[in-house]
Amino acid sequence: ASFKHLGVEPEFIQALKELGIKHPSEIQEKAIPVLLKSKTDFIGLAQTGTGKTAAFGLPLLQNIDPKLNHVQTLVLAPTRELVQQIKKQLFKFTKFSEAKIFVEGVYGGEKIDIQIQNLKRTTHVIVATPGRLNDLLDRKVIDLRKVNTVVLDEADEMLSMGFKDALTKILDHTPMAKNTWLFSATIPSGIQQIIDQYMSPKAVRV
Ligand code: AMP
Repeated sequence: ASFKHLGVEPEFIQALKELGIKHPSEIQEKAIPVLLKSKTDFIGLAQTGTGKTAAFGLPLLQNIDPKLNHVQTLVLAPTRELVQQIKKQLFKFTKFSEAKIFVEGVYGGEKIDIQIQNLKRTTHVIVATPGRLNDLLDRKVIDLRKVNTVVLDEADEMLSMGFKDALTKILDHTPMAKNTWLFSATIPSGIQQIIDQYMSPKAVRV
């Protein structure tokens, strides 16, 4: 199948082309049509380097309403490097989009005051490491009550790094009625607990 057949909009296909991405990878073929068409929880078994950023990134961007001035999607990832990488890719995917989609990166090792200032601007998508996001939630400078989608990227890595409590605290700040898209290379018992506690038994698994 082509990206067009998967339901990806022409503006994104054009951006993909510039990035040298012409044919969908396996995880993209499996994830994109499901995440675009149905409001569902989703579990994607995928290693790094398989194109999973686009697998969740394209549906995520296509689901954003740029006219709404609030955080609509939250992406959690284990490290600062991965957060920056995801943010950069999302930015590149929107090169030809008419309405601007604002993505903010939140991670440790950067001055928290600057991040707080940045978050006062229009923000549609937050990409964050769990530790720093929790700090910001404790300071009540982030409002996740209108989030409709949460992406947990490299969920097993987040758990091995000791982020389980941070993760569940963050999920408790988001609405019950939302979709959770979990990507992980493995499903250890800690991840299974999160799936059982926070995701629908009807979640699509690929
Ligand atoms: P990821 O697994 O999302 O970190 O992506 C790994 C690398 O593969 C990135 O540099 C992407 O730009 C690239 N990539 C993603 N999807 C595709 C695709 N369908 N075809 C070729 N390269 C891709």
